[in-house]
Amino acid sequence: MRLGIIGSGQLAQMMAHAGKPLGISFAFAAESKDGAIPVEGLGDIVMINGDETAEQLFNAMGQPDVVTVEKEDVNIPLLKDMQQFCRVAPNPDAVLVTQNREREKTYLRDLGIPTVGFAMAESIADIEKAVEELGFPVIVKSVEQGYDGKNQWRLKTQDDIAEFANHYDGARVIVEQWVKFTGEVSMIAARSVSGNKAFYPLTENCHKNGILLTSKTPASDWAIELDSVAQDYLLKLMDKMDYVGVLAMECFVVDGKLLVNELAPRVHNSGHWTQEGCEASQFENHLRAIFDMPLGNTKRKTPTAMLNLLGVKVTSDDVDIDSAVVHWYNKSVRPGRKVGHINITKTDSVDPFEVLERLEKQFYQ
Ligand code: AMP
Repeated sequence: MRLGIIGSGQLAQMMAHAGKPLGISFAFAAESKDGAIPVEGLGDIVMINGDETAEQLFNAMGQPDVVTVEKEDVNIPLLKDMQQFCRVAPNPDAVLVTQNREREKTYLRDLGIPTVGFAMAESIADIEKAVEELGFPVIVKSVEQGYDGKNQWRLKTQDDIAEFANHYDGARVIVEQWVKFTGEVSMIAARSVSGNKAFYPLTENCHKNGILLTSKTPASDWAIELDSVAQDYLLKLMDKMDYVGVLAMECFVVDGKLLVNELAPRVHNSGHWTQEGCEASQFENHLRAIFDMPLGNTKRKTPTAMLNLLGVKVTSDDVDIDSAVVHWYNKSVRPGRKVGHINITKTDSVDPFEVLERLEKQFYQ
């Protein structure tokens, strides 16, 4: 079995680690700007410049049985053309929906899945109108290329709009109600080619400057009842999209209700805890799903916490806790850059949530 991954970052790296025991070999399509250091030694690296035809890419990747993605920012026409040569999972139309916040939120709304209130804008007048409708504060986001809190502006007052107008070029943006959430949660689900489905338990997430910093599972009491609601939304989405692979859904919890913020058509940072916290990790189950193998057990083995390493250098020696596992991505350390994560599982002597708090202070204060 051979898999071609569009992308060459840490998600591709962790998929490759999970795929070795399943007997899968790998090829990675890397854009030169990204480099391919995380996946060095894990398979064939194909440098792409965007001019390749699907056939050229398919052949350069060693004619894989399946092609998948590790990011949503991919060339959709190319992905569609690749379907002539092999299975592409998830399908390009599903990736297309998640590439653009307007398409994504509209898709959710059309399926009756709640999101925050939003309006589209292409001018300051449109933004003013949206604020009239939604009320202050709002958060303005670019429709594409905005992740990890990038290309987002929080507007609380008329003065903020005036300030925003100084650098706004009239590009299409989404204006969202800035909600006061009780917390943020996500759920990772997998659907196989045969249509079998599996769901990981809800994860509680904290973001810092729009970037995921920690995940905890089980989630706090205020979220526990929402597991079945999240599963319900993901079921609807995956069936409608004829989705194959792992799909991640990030949500806000507001007044005890789930509001979906974002979908990711791939393995997701808030599912990294599954590497140590579950029998089968999200990476393994993504591979199982796209190669149509039986899905692995998604039950949580034990309470687990995850701390992202954002621009901080850490080795296993810095984390002297029996049940803490440091995952390092082989990237150079730059401020704010995701360079690794630590998973901490519960044992008789380790409370993962306490350790999480301690490590967060150790690395970030
Ligand atoms: P996003 O890029 O949409 O995933 O947003 C990154 C983070 O910014 C989220 O995880 C939230 O912490 C925060 N955020 C984004 N949109 C909203 C919103 N409409 N209301 C409140 N917080 C938000």
